[in-house]
Amino acid sequence: QDVVNKIAAGEIIVAPVHALKELLENSVDAGSTSLEIIAKDGGLKLLQISDNGHGINRDDLPILCERFTTSKLKAFEDLTSIATYGFRGEALASISHIAHLSIITRTKESSCAYKAQYADGKLVPAKPGQSADPKPAAGQIGTRITVEDLFYNIPTRRRAFRSGSEEYAKILDMVGRYAVHCEGVAFSCKKQGDSSMGIFVPVNASTIDRIRQIHGSSVANELVEVKVSSDRWGFTASGWVSNANYSVKRTTLLLFINHRSVESSAIKKAFEQIYTIFLPKGGHPFIYLSLEIDPQRVDVNVHPTKREVNFLNEDEIIETICDEIRGGLTKVDT
Ligand code: ADP
Ligand code: MG
Repeated sequence: QDVVNKIAAGEIIVAPVHALKELLENSVDAGSTSLEIIAKDGGLKLLQISDNGHGINRDDLPILCERFTTSKLKAFEDLTSIATYGFRGEALASISHIAHLSIITRTKESSCAYKAQYADGKLVPAKPGQSADPKPAAGQIGTRITVEDLFYNIPTRRRAFRSGSEEYAKILDMVGRYAVHCEGVAFSCKKQGDSSMGIFVPVNASTIDRIRQIHGSSVANELVEVKVSSDRWGFTASGWVSNANYSVKRTTLLLFINHRSVESSAIKKAFEQIYTIFLPKGGHPFIYLSLEIDPQRVDVNVHPTKREVNFLNEDEIIETICDEIRGGLTKVDT
């Protein structure tokens, strides 16, 4: 059974960034206003995320890494959240099957934090011979999740990652996406032992400030705001796009649907199409777009490795947004 679980988990989490995305989303969902990420060897040796969210009850710790249980419990309490975020409940479970997972967490009701270690979906003792029960520990309100030795039990996968630097670049890219999107949340990300930050965004930074921090001033200074909604197609969209005469090296699309970072080749293609008119020499746009669609119209059950998302009336929604972008760009005649 553990072998089956391990294989399934290895398909859900293919690279460190897939684990990171799940952990980021959990921390954001917990109402955090501060997220700190530390990685070693591109997240393969260590991936740690510390938040100041609402924490996890001590009583929930024993079942936390059992597949589906957490979402199922929540499902009965909160139907809208399953609709919004999908019915999954397998991220922590999966991680526990292919890495050493430990959690330290404290709720505001608790006078101390609790520390727990997991393997293969279950609590395990910190040292052989000890009890597996969560132990009281010092800690602030919030949660710190530490993932060590990812793929330790899938040696072929582990060996396939030649350098950690490529994986670290993917981690920075993902943290950068959420750091732009999540106004009101501070982000930091660095390599373990480094004094300099890969990403640092303070809590009160505006969206433009966030883009400036991560993508540079030259991009941030050339952005036009987009805001559009339609009752007919049931969506609202807002974001920032590069102006008509400004271009970046490669198309940069930071796309969020219902506050999840996703990819959509249909949307990407349509946006690139708009700019071919404005950038005849073959430049590329920068686009940050947050799209909110009635959850019932979105296929939200996106697999962490397949971030491509589909939704109803895709063509109509994309066309409405494209019209708005086209109308907002100022063409400077040369
Ligand atoms: P899902 O998010 O689909 O429920 P996960 O395995 O990602 O499944 O997480 C399981 C549960 O653990 C979550 O539903 C949440 O209740 C709790 N949880 C995980 N991470 C955090 C966190 N950083 N802060 C508070 N609760 C958390
Ligand atoms: Mg989750």
